[in-house]
Amino acid sequence: MQVILSPQDQRDLHYEIECILRMFLPQARIRFGQEEEAGPETVRVVTGAGAGTENRVTLTLPDFSGTESEPAGGSRRDTEASVCRCLYRLLTRATGKKIAWGVLTGIRPVKLVRELREQGMEEEAISRRFTERYLTAPEKAALCLHTDRVQQAAIQRAEKKGYSLYISIPFCPSRCGYCSFVSHSIEKTRRLIPEYLEKLEEELEHTAAIAQEKGLVLQTVYMGGGTPTVLEPEQLRRLLGKVERCFDRSRCMEFTVEAGRPDTITKEKLEALAESGVDRISVNPQTLNDRVLEAVGRRHTAADFFRAYELAKSFPFTAVNVDLIAGLTGDTPDSFRHTLEQVISLEPENITVHSLTMKRAADMIGEKEQRLAGVSQVGAMVDHSQRALAQAGYRPYYLYRQKSTVDSLENVGFCKGDTLCLYNIYIMDETHTILSVGGGGVTKVVLPGNRIERIFNYKYPYEYISRFPVMLERKDALRNFPL
Ligand code: SF4
Repeated sequence: MQVILSPQDQRDLHYEIECILRMFLPQARIRFGQEEEAGPETVRVVTGAGAGTENRVTLTLPDFSGTESEPAGGSRRDTEASVCRCLYRLLTRATGKKIAWGVLTGIRPVKLVRELREQGMEEEAISRRFTERYLTAPEKAALCLHTDRVQQAAIQRAEKKGYSLYISIPFCPSRCGYCSFVSHSIEKTRRLIPEYLEKLEEELEHTAAIAQEKGLVLQTVYMGGGTPTVLEPEQLRRLLGKVERCFDRSRCMEFTVEAGRPDTITKEKLEALAESGVDRISVNPQTLNDRVLEAVGRRHTAADFFRAYELAKSFPFTAVNVDLIAGLTGDTPDSFRHTLEQVISLEPENITVHSLTMKRAADMIGEKEQRLAGVSQVGAMVDHSQRALAQAGYRPYYLYRQKSTVDSLENVGFCKGDTLCLYNIYIMDETHTILSVGGGGVTKVVLPGNRIERIFNYKYPYEYISRFPVMLERKDALRNFPL
């Protein structure tokens, strides 16, 4: 797909145009170039300059040709939005696909609501901004506004010098077919765990010292992965003991561990977590359809989930979260509905519904026709989950989108009452600094003026171990930030 801009020199439009094209034509190879290079698939964009001119987009595909235009004018951001709307309308006509988020490509739409609200906009005006400027479906705009309302009190609890600590355990018992996270098969990397944990303890110490120097206040801890409960009870005890010794948790409001895969959860491990002050855990089946579980390589059954969940509920955790994925291979709207009904009947404090990512959908299903048949159902599953959870008394408390999600759909965390997970809100809202330790961890420093600086840890356990000193050095940059 060749994109030709006129005037040519408008690099600031590239990113958004590419995002819109990818939402409709995820497999397209997109190039920005000149008229002479035009092939059978082309987007031509002509931007106007001021009153009386127009922004015009023409889309040519082997079986489609059309043009959309809007009056030109306003800022560069206005031009960008106008070009995106034209392109969106053309792609909707050409593919018959309706992307409910319109031209809103950002992964944090609820943060946008908060920013607009803080600028003094009323809810009605924010909703209009979403539906008119970004062509977002009214129900998605309403979902963002609702989520923002639920989040407000949590965001107010963030202290000025507050931060969250993220601890990464990038190991799993086996790799799920749809996984897009850093995770290695434990069969191959199990031998690295002891050395990894030693380094992790060292990094915890180093990070705690910097946090103390800067006078930061620890407000939430989240241990994720991977699957932290691949660790043995003694390894968990030792690691959590280290956290306890290094960090002042006197103002820490929650400690979450993503236990994750039911096949790793045992009574001894949950005892180790509960004794160490962990008060929230996740038990994630993703689906309760055994055929689907097998197809996606989860290596556990629905019965394993029920056992792990019951076990988790026998401990005094404040909240247990259950993760589900809409759109897994072989899942159908009926089977997804059945999974959701069963999970709701257990009344977990939190339920998180993710949409399958496109890359994995393509990898897993292969045949284009099958993929298209599959993806068209995902939106229906997501919509159903939101209605059913609202009826069951759950409220959306955090929401984010991923670039490669099927139909550009969202992931939403729901909570009963006030059982929301603060960490999930803070990371998505970029409320405060997140200090991350472990392989694949990304430290995000929130600076005055909403500026974000990132410090990356090495991704894979072997790199994390072998290049450890480099990472500690990188982390020292924290000392120079005005935190
Ligand atoms: S449990 Fe999660 S992180 Fe681990 S392989 Fe499966 S999807 Fe990936």
